[in-house]
Amino acid sequence: MRISRCATAVVEANYDYTYVRIWADDGTYGTGECFFAPGLTAALREMFPLLHGRDPREVDRLARHLWRKGSGAGAVAGYLYNAISGIETALWDLLGKHYGVPVYQLLGGKLRDEVRIYADCHAGDNVESWGPMLQPRQPPWLLQAVAQRPSHADRYTPEMYRRRAAEMAAAGFDALKFDVDSLVAHTGDELHRPITRAEVSRMAECVAAAREGAGWNVDLAVDCHWRFTPSEARQIIAALAPYHLLWLEDPCPPENGHDLAALRGLGVPILTGENLNRRHGFWDLVAAGAVDLVAPDVQKCGGLLETKRIAELAEMRGIRVAPHNIASPLGLLAAAHVCATLPLFVALEFHGSDVPFWNRLVRRTPAGGRTAPTMDEESLLIQRGRVVLTAAPGLGCELDEEVARQFAKPGEPFFE
Ligand code: MG
Repeated sequence: MRISRCATAVVEANYDYTYVRIWADDGTYGTGECFFAPGLTAALREMFPLLHGRDPREVDRLARHLWRKGSGAGAVAGYLYNAISGIETALWDLLGKHYGVPVYQLLGGKLRDEVRIYADCHAGDNVESWGPMLQPRQPPWLLQAVAQRPSHADRYTPEMYRRRAAEMAAAGFDALKFDVDSLVAHTGDELHRPITRAEVSRMAECVAAAREGAGWNVDLAVDCHWRFTPSEARQIIAALAPYHLLWLEDPCPPENGHDLAALRGLGVPILTGENLNRRHGFWDLVAAGAVDLVAPDVQKCGGLLETKRIAELAEMRGIRVAPHNIASPLGLLAAAHVCATLPLFVALEFHGSDVPFWNRLVRRTPAGGRTAPTMDEESLLIQRGRVVLTAAPGLGCELDEEVARQFAKPGEPFFE
């Protein structure tokens, strides 16, 4: 069995959903998804010749081959790992289809039948689309959605947090995440101005409102996107601790990971890790016991097997894992396969609730084979805040290419 062809496709959603597909010479193919990056499909095309003619069943060997060959361009980190993660996932999907087993089975078997999903709620509203350098953009689907969104002034209010929390809890999610860094007033110099008492109070008001909207049976987490100094983070933790948060995410700049250790034990568990690659990126944090939870991104950290290794490294220090995820349903389902195998798993992120076509991008494969014709209410990927894993081979889903083509990124090939 040899790899005969590789190709990419990109869907312009809230982010670039970047797919990689790998075919074997018997016609079997697998599809994976990469975390976005500028120039990503060009990097993937540079990698494909390294895969041609190789045995797709040797997943780890091929991933390590790409690590080594990328060592000059990306060393042990960086966006080449976004590309490698998508390739690695495509190989698992191909392998699962070849052997007729689900991917979780190939990863050692599942520890749970359903995977808990937490909904990212941004700052109460998430109708946005971002290019690979995080520049705002307006694909046609967004223009329609934007017309129905609240005005800017109404977005960052306790009422929005309350309403959104209530809506998502009613939709069946029992874990939610909100941004609090968005509540810092824009003054043009926010990178080097201390946070104000009023801004901390605003955060507490919004989190209180989210808690009220969600109720006490729903877990709440908050994200800071690396925005604050350790002393500011202490103020935020003190203000938010009464709301019993599941975690505080990335309070300090990513290059200051060691600062996080001083924030543990103050009343809110600390989480980081969405931008780290491979085990090596997590090693210092885990060895130092600097965090309570790690959040590898399956589409970025190196892939499914590497996510499992990171979680096992963390397990040795009693550190739990809640993978970061901004992917399409294909990437989320891939992540769910590995999450089902992780002992200290908390919840997997879902970031697409404001993308109107998110659910329609995939069709799940029934356990008996053939792909379901449409994604109806009965077959929605996330139900009651959970993804139920089935015995369907590979990832257990196929991209709906008709829908994907409709939202394809202009100028990018579509599996050609
Ligand atoms: Mg985050």
